[in-house]
Amino acid sequence: MKRKQFIEGKIELNLKDVQKKEIKLFTSGIRVIVETANKIGICPNCKTPTDKVYEHRKQIILDRPRSDKKVEIEINKKRFLCVNDSCVVKTFTEQIEGLAASKRYTQEFENFLKDLVARNGYIAAQNILEEKYSLYLSLTMLFYLGCQD
Ligand SMILES: [Zn+2]
Repeated sequence: MKRKQFIEGKIELNLKDVQKKEIKLFTSGIRVIVETANKIGICPNCKTPTDKVYEHRKQIILDRPRSDKKVEIEINKKRFLCVNDSCVVKTFTEQIEGLAASKRYTQEFENFLKDLVARNGYIAAQNILEEKYSLYLSLTMLFYLGCQD
């Protein structure tokens, strides 16, 4: 319990509009379960606000490791229903600032990775990720993430 509180206090997510709900500790790492505070979504097409939630969708994103542990963020994203009958968009997923829908890694994770690659090179970085954090990233993925600005 002590250890959990210690870790909980250390995890500050660099994401706007999300609230920490629960932290789970596994031998393989830490999972932070978050949810967004948004009660209302704005349709990206017709701009009509809605509070009708169609479904929730779980998304798992990697964040920078803490205390030598892999950190995963589990976001329960809302999928809203557009209430405007004449709109072509039926449902849309809420947007989280600083996190594109297609992203699997936070900016903090990418920074961590770039630093790891810069210090160790691609192959050693891949081994460190595997051995220390049980993360399996292909060299192509490492190269792609390591080269982004
Ligand atoms: Zn709409």
